[in-house]
Amino acid sequence: MDKYDYIIAGAGCAGLSLLHYIHQDSSLHQKKILIIDQNLKKSNDRTWCFWEEESSDFESLLTTSWNTISIHQADRNFYLPTAPFTYKMIEGLSFYESIIAKARQSENIEWKEVKIESINDQIVYWEGGAATAKYIFSSILQYNPVFKDANSIHELNDLAKRYTVKPFLWQHFKGVTVEFNNEVFDPSCARWMDFNVDQQKATAFMYVLPIHKKKALVEYTVFSKYILDKKDYDDSINSFIALHYPNQTYTILHEEFGAIPMTQNSFSSGQTSGYIPIGTIGGAVKASTGFAFKSIQEQTKKIAAALSKGEQPTAILKKTRHSFYDAVLLDILYNDKMSGAEIFTRIFSKNKAATVFKFLSNTSSIFDDIKIMVTLPTRLFLFTAIRVLLRWK
Ligand SMILES: Cc1cc2nc3c(=O)[nH]c(=O)nc-3n(C[C@H](O)[C@H](O)[C@H](O)COP(=O)(O)OP(=O)(O)OC[C@H]3O[C@@H](n4cnc5c(N)ncnc54)[C@H](O)[C@@H]3O)c2cc1C
Repeated sequence: MDKYDYIIAGAGCAGLSLLHYIHQDSSLHQKKILIIDQNLKKSNDRTWCFWEEESSDFESLLTTSWNTISIHQADRNFYLPTAPFTYKMIEGLSFYESIIAKARQSENIEWKEVKIESINDQIVYWEGGAATAKYIFSSILQYNPVFKDANSIHELNDLAKRYTVKPFLWQHFKGVTVEFNNEVFDPSCARWMDFNVDQQKATAFMYVLPIHKKKALVEYTVFSKYILDKKDYDDSINSFIALHYPNQTYTILHEEFGAIPMTQNSFSSGQTSGYIPIGTIGGAVKASTGFAFKSIQEQTKKIAAALSKGEQPTAILKKTRHSFYDAVLLDILYNDKMSGAEIFTRIFSKNKAATVFKFLSNTSSIFDDIKIMVTLPTRLFLFTAIRVLLRWK
């Protein structure tokens, strides 16, 4: 059996981010690495947005960025400058291609395009072959103990219904990149959450990210227990466009669909000394928002730093007071105690975008947290916090 220093199982966001940080560290250049994916990325399957203060490694790949976001609910409209943060957009394909192209120059990195059938301890199996490594970094959902039987979004949906550890919501969305014949967008402002759409008896909003005056990503996002029929996303997007840009002609350039698990359950339970789950299955998704790109960067950078120092890498994230806040928010949304539209509108109505961004990136101070909390109904949040605390492990 071929033996490697590291096997990266799954070359998506987390696998390729890890490869990027390993490749950046000259002390790891001699390591023998095998990257396996059933479908090495050749298309733009997703668009990532994230906020940060500093410049990232991927600055030159950004599609665009914004310094103002807006929130809309009924007749409440808030336009908020994001400084000192910038809200950034990067297309999956530019990210994949740039990392794959650099890594292909290295003789120590091997690529295999096969479907992994199983990962046991320190061995990865595919039809007709297997390989072993000191460390296997996996971002493959099926091999997470929680999702081991699921192969498709629909199976995941069924699993979520049967899921024993609650609360569990999906953040699911369809996005279309549209190009209009006329200039209809303001490229300086990202319409972050427009709640004036069908709420699907849960929380839903339209997310409009202008790339230039004629072109934008328009995405209908829902936080709910179950994924919708494809038609429901299309209907919401079509009526939003008809309402906001009447009598305008446009072309759909690209479509994407996603379903991200929003849960406090530990996806990292499968970690052993040799098997390290990363990315979504490594707990990198923020339970209350579904944002993951930036935390995947932090997680994989930390793993590469541990490898460089010869330390045991880990993807397990410590529980902090911010994970507790996530659990409270998730509990309220899951049990329909208050709508997400009302929660987020109240938070943004009284706070700077920077304070909310810090809160959502787990970097806010206690003082910032209080500023956010006073905008919400004390009784409801206090009772929920006590209930969550009682089951907190
Ligand atoms: C459409 C979409 C948009 C998103 N937008 C944002 C955003 O704006 N901001 C943000 O912070 N987060 C966003 N996310 C959430 C998160 O950042 C992404 O889901 C991210 O790609 C997760 O990275 P990952 O490596 O865990 O999984 P993936 O990127 O999905 O990588 C997993 C890889 O495993 C491979 N694989 C699966 N099964 C097998 C198998 N059996 N054998 C071999 N290979 C296999 C897949 O082909 C894939 O390449 C988005 C998610 C989606 C789906």
